[in-house]
Amino acid sequence: MTATHSDVHQEVRRTVREFVAREIAPIADALDNAEAEIPMPVIRKMAGLGYFGLVFPERYGGMGLDTLAMAIVAEELSRGWLSVGSVMTRMIITGTLLLESGTEEQRQRFLPKIASGELLTAAAFTEPDAGSDTGAIKCRAVRDDAGGGHYLLRGEKTWCTFANRAHVLTVLARTDPDPSRRHKGLSMFLVEKEPGDYFHPPELDGSVIPTIGYKGMKSYSLAFDGYRVPAENLVGGEEGRGCYQLMPTYEIARIQTAARAVGVAQAALDAALRYAQERTQFGRPIADHQVIRHKLARMATELEAARQLCYYAASVKDRGGRSDLEAGYAKVFAAEMAERVTSEALQIFGGYGYSREYPVQRFWRDSRVFRIFEGTSEIQYEVIAKRLLEGAKAGGNGQGRGKGRS
Ligand SMILES: Cc1cc2nc3c(=O)[nH]c(=O)nc-3n(C[C@H](O)[C@H](O)[C@H](O)COP(=O)(O)OP(=O)(O)OC[C@H]3O[C@@H](n4cnc5c(N)ncnc54)[C@H](O)[C@@H]3O)c2cc1C
Repeated sequence: MTATHSDVHQEVRRTVREFVAREIAPIADALDNAEAEIPMPVIRKMAGLGYFGLVFPERYGGMGLDTLAMAIVAEELSRGWLSVGSVMTRMIITGTLLLESGTEEQRQRFLPKIASGELLTAAAFTEPDAGSDTGAIKCRAVRDDAGGGHYLLRGEKTWCTFANRAHVLTVLARTDPDPSRRHKGLSMFLVEKEPGDYFHPPELDGSVIPTIGYKGMKSYSLAFDGYRVPAENLVGGEEGRGCYQLMPTYEIARIQTAARAVGVAQAALDAALRYAQERTQFGRPIADHQVIRHKLARMATELEAARQLCYYAASVKDRGGRSDLEAGYAKVFAAEMAERVTSEALQIFGGYGYSREYPVQRFWRDSRVFRIFEGTSEIQYEVIAKRLLEGAKAGGNGQGRGKGRS
């Protein structure tokens, strides 16, 4: 079940570690404490290192690396700061959408610029009344052929992370006015906008959602009121396909999210191992107390299990197979592991763990989001159970061919 690490993967890990030690470790705590975003020069450096186009084919400006390499990059960046490891998620989602479902013209127009970081992207799927239930999306895209073909967007989106800095939002909107059509009435749009902390009301307005962690990127509530989108920006050029076009993005985004959880948990374990050997109570390092030793051992065991599940899901994807089940296993297990491991790390720090002076509280606050975004744990279990039961019904090994989360 272990994935093979080639020299390329080892080299990828080494270079990302160097980048994190040089560019991220010195700034992460201060910026998190100040609730400040990742500086743009850091984002430009990540773009320059090719992190946003890692898995795109070279003919579209990408590096042509595999999913395992992407997981390693996400893990190591997140070990430095979750927010930094999360920037690339957006470009991976948009790129996968285009590769799997875009027209050739859309791929040529957007992919090389996304891979180079010239265009930054953000995902606007969630709405105030439609989170797990994508079929309930209300944001409307109405075709208007007057003055050239375009659509007018009207409605609200929420939790659009990185919306301010993005040049392109991938927006899932309802093209069929009949809400009973649910998923079948949704279409995906590439919505171009100017980057910056300002929006352009009334057509597009945005406000920041205050959060308890994940401070290096801001998440926004967005309101569209007649925002014009050229018809050629309808992904794949066909209405009603939006939800189905999202499916392949779930696999890669969930593997990437599992890798981010592994990275944050590793950072917490590293800190706990150091602290347990430095902190003395009852005349000896707390690492000499068996309860603490066993905590560390359990944390490391769970962490390694999550890492292997994540690499395994990546390797299944790289072999060209369907990997939604494996991506679901990895995502849900790593998310729950990260919450437990970071909480135990904080516990090992005692009162100091609760103080802003040590980064362990950052790992704990950041890790809480893994059970919520990219499909909640409850929805992941539902997807996994559905596949298992379908497989069992078909007399197979429990790995039936159900649909992904919707
Ligand atoms: C920090 C952060 C960043 C995010 N970034 C983005 C982003 O960039 N773009 C984007 O589009 N979205 C983003 N999201 C939104 C995220 O994807 C949603 O929060 C998530 O899908 C859950 O939707 P919801 O919050 O509406 O919860 P709900 O769907 O309302 O769920 C509430 C609770 O009910 C449970 N539940 C719902 N349905 C079922 C069911 N059928 N069976 C069992 N339990 C169920 C859920 O698991 C959850 O525990 C982000 C969220 C956060 C917190």
